[in-house]
Amino acid sequence: MSKKAVIKIGGSVLKNQKSVEQILRILKSYKKNPVIVVSAFYGITDKLKQSLESLLNEENTLNSLFEEILRIKSSIIIELIDDDKIRQNTLDELNKELRNLRQYLQGIYYIRHIPEKAYDYVLSFGEKFSALLLKGIFADKNIASEIVYPEEAGLITDGIFGNASIDLDAAKKQIPDSFTKDIVYLVPGFYGVSKKSEITLLGRGGTDYSAAAFAYCLDAESLDIWKDVNGFMSGDPKHVNNPQRIKHLTYSEAAELAYFGAGILHPRTVEPVRLANIPIKLFNINHTDFIEAQTVIDSHISIHPKVSKSVTVDNNTGILKLQGPGVGYIPGILSEISKTLHLHNININSVITSQIAINLLIDKDLIDSAYRLISKLNLQVLTKIVVKKDVSLIAVVGNGMTEAYGVAARILTAVSEQGINIQLSSLGASDAVTYLIVDKKDTNKALQEIHYTLFEKKANQQINSFIEN
Ligand code: ASP
Ligand code: MG
Repeated sequence: MSKKAVIKIGGSVLKNQKSVEQILRILKSYKKNPVIVVSAFYGITDKLKQSLESLLNEENTLNSLFEEILRIKSSIIIELIDDDKIRQNTLDELNKELRNLRQYLQGIYYIRHIPEKAYDYVLSFGEKFSALLLKGIFADKNIASEIVYPEEAGLITDGIFGNASIDLDAAKKQIPDSFTKDIVYLVPGFYGVSKKSEITLLGRGGTDYSAAAFAYCLDAESLDIWKDVNGFMSGDPKHVNNPQRIKHLTYSEAAELAYFGAGILHPRTVEPVRLANIPIKLFNINHTDFIEAQTVIDSHISIHPKVSKSVTVDNNTGILKLQGPGVGYIPGILSEISKTLHLHNININSVITSQIAINLLIDKDLIDSAYRLISKLNLQVLTKIVVKKDVSLIAVVGNGMTEAYGVAARILTAVSEQGINIQLSSLGASDAVTYLIVDKKDTNKALQEIHYTLFEKKANQQINSFIEN
């Protein structure tokens, strides 16, 4: 049997009646029944989170959530499902889920405590809701479909609440058994299930990652991600002038861009598909011509004549600067620190050391905890620990960074000529990325200057390098 596509439909294209009509339209462009992994409707995940968080303080906190769901129910289900019986079935199934959710939330209200795992359970509801709704609409249009829930099919994770990793080997053994028929399958994205059968989220934006895992487990032909933007660009259109669309990226480039803040993909999307050499294709749902993907990501190495392909910004990473004479020479100090942080699920995004300082790049929301944990270690050699949160990390991505002459010089000159202070920089962390850290106030200026120098300026188009184009 030839392979099928796994499609991911994101929250940005799950808004209203028009979005559902667009989905029906794209479905027709597939020759084989695809597997569709869905996000929650636009804004629903945030609403679920707010409802849970304010549950203990406010009385009627659930109202706005249920109002929003009611709006979706009446504007989409009632409008789009013609068949009375299918409409009623769909409403019944949704109401049943809503009752479960309400009961669960009432339980939390009653015990006056939000357990960690409650976030995972409650937020996963948004994706289930999307799958149920689309199933009803498909049935009304005579499209045979079934929902496969990750917890039933066995999308096994490491059990870390809020930010789990998928156990691809374990998942691959079970997942294909749930997809044997020649029908459209709908899968709620964003979560998997721990070995103890608890729902675990894959981090915000995690539907990309679950779709990639399903693509891997099913050996899909491609992972098609439908959004309302033109794929990857040379810079974020909100911040830079005339960004150009990037037609092709390698897995490494896409992974670096996603890792360093390009919100277009969940940072872990590339991992599963790269293992099986499955291309990722990004499509814009608003285009009437569905043939051409906006960006294709695969293993084919393409080196841009200018080496750099895109500049992105990560506003969530801060610096934890560990100072002390000779700190860079002390054997074992980094391993002690990283062991402690690892035990508390704090990831070190990057390390830059010198003789007198170790700079750890850590997510800003975890950096204070990291500071406390390291302080408690009482390491004699450390004289000072400084937390820097008012910074941004700007990354320039493109294969061939470590081999080309002048890329870094050009980036650093562009920034320093504007009098912008560079706090830290790292060249060649991988062959595909160079990054620098600047004060938060300088972020936009730095981004614009780098984008201008690399992509807008007419002169010096060619990098002096020995790389073949
Ligand atoms: N609905 C989830 C979120 O908003 C997951 C996703 O959309 O990918 O983060
Ligand atoms: Mg997303």
